[in-house]
Amino acid sequence: MRIILYSPLKNKLSVNALAGALEADPKSRSVPIAFSSKPEELEREVKKAAKHKTVLGFSFFSSQAEETVRLAAKARKAHPALTLVAGGAHPSGAPEAVLRMGFDAVCIGEGEKTFTELLGKLLAGADWRGLPGLAVLENGKFKRNKRRPPVNLDDYPPFSQLHGRYGIIEITRGCPNACKFCQTSHIHGLKHRHRSIETILGYAALMHEKGMSDFRAVTPDAFSYGSNGGKINYDALEALLSGLHKILKPRGKIFFGSFPSEVRPEHVTEKAVALVTRYADNDNLVIGAQSASPRMLKLCGRGHSARDIFRAAEITLKAGLRPNMDFIFRLPGETEADARLSLEAMRKLSAMGARIHAHTFMPLPGTAFAGKNPAPPYPWFDEEINRMNARGAVFGDWREQAKTAASR
Ligand code: SF4
Repeated sequence: MRIILYSPLKNKLSVNALAGALEADPKSRSVPIAFSSKPEELEREVKKAAKHKTVLGFSFFSSQAEETVRLAAKARKAHPALTLVAGGAHPSGAPEAVLRMGFDAVCIGEGEKTFTELLGKLLAGADWRGLPGLAVLENGKFKRNKRRPPVNLDDYPPFSQLHGRYGIIEITRGCPNACKFCQTSHIHGLKHRHRSIETILGYAALMHEKGMSDFRAVTPDAFSYGSNGGKINYDALEALLSGLHKILKPRGKIFFGSFPSEVRPEHVTEKAVALVTRYADNDNLVIGAQSASPRMLKLCGRGHSARDIFRAAEITLKAGLRPNMDFIFRLPGETEADARLSLEAMRKLSAMGARIHAHTFMPLPGTAFAGKNPAPPYPWFDEEINRMNARGAVFGDWREQAKTAASR
C-alpha cells in the first residue's frame, strides 16, 4: 500500500495535519507516504506507485477545484486502480459535485479520524464506503454517511515528525460567528475548539529542538484563543505567549495575529495588542474588516460595527504595529452606496497608516452566500482601488478573484 498526498504550499497545513494523524495511528504509521507539491512530482509519484494499492489524497479550496480535477483525472489514467480521496474546504461544501468529477470518496469536514479509518479499512481489504464522515456515490446515487463528532485537537499532532513535515500550528478550530461568505463555521462547527497551551508549547519546543524556532498559528481569530469567542481570555493569551517566549527566545520569532491568522476588529483592545508587542515579533496585525457599510456588516452577519474597524486600526497604530485590513469587494447585495462607504473607509484607513488587503467575493460551497453572485462592479471604485494599489496602499488577489468569479 502507498499513500500520495498532493501538497502545494496553500494546502500544506491540512496535509501536515493529515500526515500527523496517520503517524499517530499504529496501523497507518508504517504505510509509506509520498508528498508532491507540483504537478510533475505528482505524475512521477503516481507512476512509481503503479504496481501498488494506492490512495491519492487532495485537500483543496474552491479556487483550486479546476486544477485538482485535471490532476486527479491524469493520475487516474496513469493508475486506474488508485483510490482518489478529496477533503478540505471545497469538497466539504460540495461533496456531490466533487464525487461526480471522478473522486471515489470525500472526507467531509475534519479528515484526521475519517482518513485514518479509511486507510485502516483499505489495509484490511474491508469495505470502507459506509464510514462516518465520508460521502460516496453508490450506484451513481449520492450518499452522505453520518457525521462525526468534532475531534479534540489535543488528540492529533499538528504535523508529522516521522515525515519531517513541521510548520504552522493550528491553535483553534471552529468559529461561532458564521459570517455568511465564510466556510469555517460550516466545516468546523460553531464552537471554538482550542489546542491546549501545554500541547502547543510541547510542539513549539519540539520544533525548536529541531532548529525551527519560528512560531506561526492558524486560528479564525487569534485574540479568541482560550475563549468562546466572546469576552477575551487575557490569562490564556498571556500564558500562551509568555510560554512561547520562554521556549523560543532568543533564537526564534513569534507571529501572533498576523499572517496566516487574523483578529476580529472588536477584539483589538489595548490590552490584547500590548501582549503582542510584549511577547511577539510581528510588525503588523491582520484585521478582518470586510466592509465598512453597517448595512453590509449586518447582512453578512459579521457581529461588529464599522466603528470597531476604525477603533481597531487606531489601537494597532498607537501600539506601533501596522494594521492590514481585510476587505471583500462586491459582496452580494452591496449597493453603490455601500461600496462608497467602504471606499471612503479604505481611504481614511490608508491615510491613518493601514494597508488594505483586498479580496473579491467568491461564492463558496456550503456557505449562506453559496448561490449568490458578486454585486456589480463600479468603475469609479475600481479606478480608485487601482490608484491606491499603485501607491502601495492596497494589495491582494482581488483582480484574479474577480476573473475567477466571472468565469463560473
Ligand atoms: S470570517 Fe472569520 S469570524 Fe467570520 S466565520 Fe469566518 S473565521 Fe469566523
